[in-house]
Amino acid sequence: MTSNAPVMLGMTLPDVDVWSERVTVALGQNPSVFSGPGTNTYLIGTGPQRLLVDPGQGMPAYISVLEQAMERCGCEGFQEIVLTHGHPDHIGGVRQVLKRFGDLKISKKPWPGVDEAYDLELTPIDDGSVIKTEGATLRALHTPGHAPDHLCFMIEEERSLISGDNVLGVGTTVIPAETGDLTQYMASLERLRRENPSCIYPAHGPKIEDGMAKLDEYIAHRHERERQIVAVLEDGAAHPMDIVKIVYASYPEALHPAASQSVTQHLMKLERDGRTRRDGKDPILASWSLS
Ligand SMILES: [Zn+2]
Repeated sequence: MTSNAPVMLGMTLPDVDVWSERVTVALGQNPSVFSGPGTNTYLIGTGPQRLLVDPGQGMPAYISVLEQAMERCGCEGFQEIVLTHGHPDHIGGVRQVLKRFGDLKISKKPWPGVDEAYDLELTPIDDGSVIKTEGATLRALHTPGHAPDHLCFMIEEERSLISGDNVLGVGTTVIPAETGDLTQYMASLERLRRENPSCIYPAHGPKIEDGMAKLDEYIAHRHERERQIVAVLEDGAAHPMDIVKIVYASYPEALHPAASQSVTQHLMKLERDGRTRRDGKDPILASWSLS
């Protein structure tokens, strides 16, 4: 799930592309305001059996695109499915892939209370888990913030990063007001930076050639937003929606509800930092001030 819809909507990517000798991408066929050109689903490895990372949302058109991708890169089948996190545009396509290719191991970090809805047999993985296939070694990094179960994966052979929804090829990551956590998200970005990735393969949008530059841009963007929100609070704005109308004045109003989630996340992070307080329990409806 992403924001900056005007940018996202204008973007198209080929259905199938080869981004490195061990990374082929097949588009999930689920374009939308929130997923841009759709979910990037990745065939990873160099052998006949590959890893399939994030098989998309379950769109019927996806299976033939996946088959084109397999043919393009010489993949005959899948060793296992690996998931970055449990949002529907990532896990929702698992079932149709199993239906087409038979039972496969499905590895993800558990998200209790959410995973159950998909009724899949999941193999738990976590920070530090290593998944090997011919030509590629994935190392899992627990990187919460966008979602509590979120894993990114370093591809050790090329020191590249599969970033899931933590870093995107276009737009910025949504930190959902209820299940997200901006403090954790910022820590996750710093963690990814310490891995010093070469390029980044995001879950939405094109390949990011300079991974470190993008991480720096993401971190700077959040710091700038925080500074803007503090300035607006200094001027007396109090409700997240009022702050949105000022900070996101140049964005279409249809995006303001999504932006209010982001603003609320900033206010809650500032609260944890001891810099804001709220009058009211629900953070979106509360009245906020600097403390
Ligand atoms: Zn997501």
